[in-house]
Amino acid sequence: MSLDLPFDNSYARLDERFYTKIAPTPVKDPSLITLNRPLAAELGLDADALETPDGIAFLAGNSVPAGADPLAQVYAGHQFGGWSPRLGDGRAVLLGEIVAPDGQRFDIQLKGSGPTPYSRMGDGRAWVGPVLREYIVSEAMHALGVPTTRALAAVATGETVLREAPYPGAVLTRVAASHIRVGTFQYFASQKDTKALAALTEHAISRHDPEVDGALGFLDGVIDRQAKLIAKWMGLGFVHGVMNTDNMTVSGETIDYGPCAYIDRFHPMQVFSSIDQQGRYAYGRQPEMAMWNLAQLATSLLPLIGEVEKAQASLDRFPDLYRTAWRNVFRAKIGLKTKAEDDDGLINGLIDLMAQGQADFTNTFRALGSHKARDEFVDPSIYDDWEQRWRDRLETEGASPEDRVAELQSVNPAVIARTHRIEQAIQAAVTGDLAPYKRLNTALATPFANPGEMEDLTRPPLEEEVVPQTFCGT
Ligand code: AMP
Ligand code: MG
Repeated sequence: MSLDLPFDNSYARLDERFYTKIAPTPVKDPSLITLNRPLAAELGLDADALETPDGIAFLAGNSVPAGADPLAQVYAGHQFGGWSPRLGDGRAVLLGEIVAPDGQRFDIQLKGSGPTPYSRMGDGRAWVGPVLREYIVSEAMHALGVPTTRALAAVATGETVLREAPYPGAVLTRVAASHIRVGTFQYFASQKDTKALAALTEHAISRHDPEVDGALGFLDGVIDRQAKLIAKWMGLGFVHGVMNTDNMTVSGETIDYGPCAYIDRFHPMQVFSSIDQQGRYAYGRQPEMAMWNLAQLATSLLPLIGEVEKAQASLDRFPDLYRTAWRNVFRAKIGLKTKAEDDDGLINGLIDLMAQGQADFTNTFRALGSHKARDEFVDPSIYDDWEQRWRDRLETEGASPEDRVAELQSVNPAVIARTHRIEQAIQAAVTGDLAPYKRLNTALATPFANPGEMEDLTRPPLEEEVVPQTFCGT
């Protein structure tokens, strides 16, 4: 066993304009909540060593392992459309990067690791609720095939964090292709620091677009990745909730699982976040908001791209890229293998019916092909015309819904991280009972399998279980 972490810290080799070097603040009495052993293996880390007191001390931020070079990254961002000239890691430090056995480079970040110069109100801590939520949802997203930051571990700190009430503190070890955000580019653009902007772009290209030459190609790459990412969210009924520019990566990974949620009963304008009063980040607005964020990235890169027309042309590709990605996602969700003229109409026909019939988003798609989808609608008869239309369309591929059950179930999950289940898991964890949290994680690791004795996790919330609002992960 050894806690040898093969750090190679390329971000720390950028100059001091990009960060503040700062170590995590030790905690009182760290204990392991969860270690993600499969992820440890992917990273080439010794999971047994991570579970020893030395390993836990590292995951809690109590000891900085050899080779790490901890720092808080600086960035800016538009939050709900309003400009914040300086944000930065206020409750996280990047310990460094490791190169996994497969050659991929990953950031290792501790979240909830204590104050930094960028902390909002000097806090820098996290309580167990948001830490477990991020663990559950980010790992669920990974299992669903959605690019995302990962969770390597959750550690209890033995300290209390004061929010609306005192709660047990926790630290999350986040793993990401990088933590470079649209807001990182905005920060240097707003400072008119073109040299730093160029260095950042070169760094980001080396990590995410090594085959690309220059800022314009990089912008194209980010736009491609985000178009595909948002389409995947839409296909799962996922609402991110805080699509601020500081919460959009250039890697194309989903980041910052604060007030996020999957829709139960479908409504296209569903909002969950308590702070999203205007519905800016409602389900149906996510593509438009992604485009808005990407426009901020394009603007930030202008000093490097040179010609406005080129940046604009790159950005103008987004709607078509998104449409194509959306069509691919939803064609698969209704079991189509070929393309036909009115597939959009067919797909939207079902989506509209789901809204009208208050159907559960996940369970309706899961039940397609078994004729049980009908029962998901308050008035099941509204489904019948659509089903006939769908049958006719499948017939053009020489198939019936029944023939496509396996394909349908391989893209339409049975189990998602429903908000009420996350909430129940957190409430139990606060009282020291981790069983519901672990059970939920287990089910979410194989979301397309039939859940067997975990069938209850597929149920939409009962009226008394509905969580009407979600809160930012602080
Ligand atoms: P978020 O809402 O998580 O995207 O965070 C927005 C900004 O607030 C970032 O700069 C965070 O680092 C900072 N922030 C969020 N929570 C905390 C906290 N508990 N302590 C200090 N800063 C925070
Ligand atoms: Mg954030």
